[in-house]
Amino acid sequence: PVRVRFAPSPTGPLHIGGVRTALYNYLFARKNGGKMLLRIEDTDQNRFVPGAEDYIIEALSWIGIQIDEGQGVGGPHGPYRQSERAAIYRAEALRLVEEGKAYYAFDTAEELDDMRKRLEAANAPAAQYNAITRMQMKNSLTLPADEVKARVESGDPYVIRLKTPRKEEVRLNDLIRGWVNVHSSAIDDKVLLKSDGLPTYHLANVVDDHLMGITHVIRGEEWLPSAPLHVLLYRYLGWEDTMPRFAHLPLLLKPEGNGKLSKRDAELGGFPVFPLEWKDPFTGNVARGFREDGYLPEALVNFLAFLGWNPGTEQELFTMDELIDAFDIGQIHKAGARFDIVKATWFNHQYLRQQANAQLAPAVIEQAEAAGLTCPAEKAEKVAGLLKERVNFAHELFTEGHTLFYTPESYDQAVAAAKWNDDARKAVTVFREALLTFDGAFEADAIKHTLSDTLQQAGIKQGKVMQAMRLALTGVGAGPDLMMTMEIIGRDEVLHRLNLALE
Ligand code: GLU
Repeated sequence: PVRVRFAPSPTGPLHIGGVRTALYNYLFARKNGGKMLLRIEDTDQNRFVPGAEDYIIEALSWIGIQIDEGQGVGGPHGPYRQSERAAIYRAEALRLVEEGKAYYAFDTAEELDDMRKRLEAANAPAAQYNAITRMQMKNSLTLPADEVKARVESGDPYVIRLKTPRKEEVRLNDLIRGWVNVHSSAIDDKVLLKSDGLPTYHLANVVDDHLMGITHVIRGEEWLPSAPLHVLLYRYLGWEDTMPRFAHLPLLLKPEGNGKLSKRDAELGGFPVFPLEWKDPFTGNVARGFREDGYLPEALVNFLAFLGWNPGTEQELFTMDELIDAFDIGQIHKAGARFDIVKATWFNHQYLRQQANAQLAPAVIEQAEAAGLTCPAEKAEKVAGLLKERVNFAHELFTEGHTLFYTPESYDQAVAAAKWNDDARKAVTVFREALLTFDGAFEADAIKHTLSDTLQQAGIKQGKVMQAMRLALTGVGAGPDLMMTMEIIGRDEVLHRLNLALE
């Protein structure tokens, strides 16, 4: 059975690229009747941010990604927080040392620095702590065995490094990238266990994926360079037979395709799902969030699903269930996906217009109250119904509908010059009179009949005066349905506005 995991490091709010990774894992798990795990990779104590773990869990649930097993849910392979599994990694690292596949190293920071400088001066290849340099450094491969033992026992700081083979081909068949071949000489003697006793990402990640029975590792392309090292680790740990399949997702690019979308590209959409109480230390700005900007989770999911994959049909709007149905890991693209926030806005518009008016009403009320007005729920729902086709975000409804809340203080001069003529004045006058005796519910249909009957009796062609009527009522020449506009503002206010226009 398929088992996948989302394995974030709690170093801050969830970046939008991380959400895409989580989503693809989730779609793949659900598509294959498998399980979705959440594991917290918090072994780098320097980068730990308090609250980030709760944030991640909340963000996933807001988006609609259900975790089957892992942090916050529990399960048979816990604990799911790596900082609580230190003994497990340590045991595996020591086993590798015993089997001659890893070794203790005692080099100090200065010694490592010196080595690096020497190698740089000699134009050495990328892998710097390797089979050659390790013979010149202070480690258990160069020091006498009794000295090594004594130093470890006396509590001297050490790390455990992988003894990377000198001449081996490391191959992996990535589900998206195809075959990736790397020569072991390009792989460092990576640190597996740090001097603080905690594992590095590589060791912890491989050990946990194995122990948690992960069948597919689906993650961002930035991890592709680490994958050969992971393959080597599976081999050395004796787990190659059950090694997961890898799928490295295409990078998220800026809209113009000019480079990777990063957390610094806030204006392009490189912001998190919602801000973890986080203030930019330099600007003092509070971080933006998709939730705060008014995105609906369904829209965000739909948008993210298309960043690196498409179903190969014309259909663009997909519910989560439809995505699960259509998703095919084999159709994920290799090329980077351009992250276009304008497209995200389009998706939001599509989902917003499908929302019930009652769901949108609170946003209208909130904005109205922020402007110092009161807005009954009934009015807010009508405002939402009238305007939801015209906006992208719920918080835009109030602004879009300002003529429903404010009596005009001025009139569009260009429209007035073109349309405010004798006929228009006469139309407004007779309509106003008709409204004085209007009885029954003041609703769009009834208003419409009153208006057309009145204009007909007065011998005025409705088409010729409608824009002027709108101008009189709203101050502007264009807007949403005028009958509904009148219903929303109510008879008294309509009369008041018509009076003002005639002054
Ligand atoms: N902790 C890693 C991250 O933050 C996980 C990478 C992986 O999925 O292997 O992205």
